Amino acid sequence: MDLRPTQDEEKFRHELRSWLSDAVPAHGSPPPREDWPARRAWDTRWQKKMFDAGWAGISWPKAFGGRQASLVEQLVYYEEYARAKAPYVGVNFVGLLHGGPTLIVEGTDAQKDKHIPYILRGEQVWCQGFSEPTAGSDLASLRTKAERDGDHYVVSGHKIWTSFAQVADYCELLVRTDPNVPKHGGISWLIMPMDLAGIEVRPLPTLHGEGEFSEVFLDNVRIPVENLVGKENDGWRVTNVTLRFERGTAFAGEMYDLKRWLSEIATAAQKVTDHGTRAWDDATLRREVGHLQADIDSLWNMLKLSIGQADKSGVPGIGASAVKLFFTELKQRVGDMAMRVLGRAVLGRSNMGGLPVEYFSYEALQSLSMTIAAGSSQIQRKIIGERILGLPKDK
Ligand SMILES: Cc1cc2nc3c(=O)[nH]c(=O)nc-3n(C[C@H](O)[C@H](O)[C@H](O)COP(=O)(O)OP(=O)(O)OC[C@H]3O[C@@H](n4cnc5c(N)ncnc54)[C@H](O)[C@@H]3O)c2cc1C
Repeated sequence: MDLRPTQDEEKFRHELRSWLSDAVPAHGSPPPREDWPARRAWDTRWQKKMFDAGWAGISWPKAFGGRQASLVEQLVYYEEYARAKAPYVGVNFVGLLHGGPTLIVEGTDAQKDKHIPYILRGEQVWCQGFSEPTAGSDLASLRTKAERDGDHYVVSGHKIWTSFAQVADYCELLVRTDPNVPKHGGISWLIMPMDLAGIEVRPLPTLHGEGEFSEVFLDNVRIPVENLVGKENDGWRVTNVTLRFERGTAFAGEMYDLKRWLSEIATAAQKVTDHGTRAWDDATLRREVGHLQADIDSLWNMLKLSIGQADKSGVPGIGASAVKLFFTELKQRVGDMAMRVLGRAVLGRSNMGGLPVEYFSYEALQSLSMTIAAGSSQIQRKIIGERILGLPKDK
């Protein structure tokens, strides 16, 4: 695979860099983290700007309104995007990075028409209703049931950890449509409009003080049968498509941010002093920063493979689990490094002397949840062991 940029790809870089250099400052500062309606408005307005300028859906096929950028262009895109400190995908995460891509691969024409252009323009926000109180790591043991009644499924159950549920228009929902077959066989993947009767969303607070996710209670919610994606009871296969996008490519932007974050920590280490000694004066710490940098470079090579595979076959491969595992554990290590450099200053959680302490401490706390979200580290290790390395299955 030749990943050296061609002249055209360099032109792409310059066009993107120049657009971002005007558009990012013009978009202003993000609203407070707890103001979800304002966050939705800010994130979706940015998405619309990206769409109008031709930068939305960077890897999406042109037929679906995307940019269909080459593999190298996609990498350039993530690099320039992080460099410009452009807005995080935010409430558009599910729709743009795994819900929409799943519909492109598995949806009917009517489903694609109804959702894809709107997701791309930032006019439809999605959430993910997979996890349940007793079905997280063991996702296939989910119990939310859907019974057929004419042209509708009647759905009752309880979802948890549903990010963005409080502002979403639609939910990628997993339900049990057949309780009488082995657990992986009786699942279906539905598109649930969030304004249907019988849906109650109760936000949950998190460690870093942000109500990102909610519990979602479903009481006889009537979802049209036309909202079934894939075949009835074939939802586990569709789910694996969704999870490969979520684990393999959805965090690409944040992976580039990690590179920037480490370099900011290294700069901070040269400024912060503890009784006259800079963190940077510690040779062990400098060596660890070097190791982290080398691991970030390795992560990039893994991501290139994953994006390359998605580029060829339309869906990232099973190696998506390795990318997700390596990225999230690395992010925690970078978070630990930030805490060590800042020392007691981090308790204040307010910025000091030009150092973005609040940002470092937020990212470090938030990194803890990343090894759980989208499937915990232990589960990724099991997938790697059993399905990539061919080790014996856990009994
Ligand atoms: C920030 C964040 C956002 C999230 N957003 C969403 C969302 O939008 N939608 C959604 O549906 N879900 C979401 N989740 C839920 C997430 O997918 C689950 O938390 C995750 O799958 C783990 O499930 P659990 O919390 O039930 O933990 P459990 O399954 O109870 O696991 C507890 C511990 O036991 C370990 N464990 C369990 N079973 C095994 C096993 N067989 N082998 C080895 N170890 C095992 C786990 O690795 C973990 O360490 C989010 C989670 C987080 C943290």
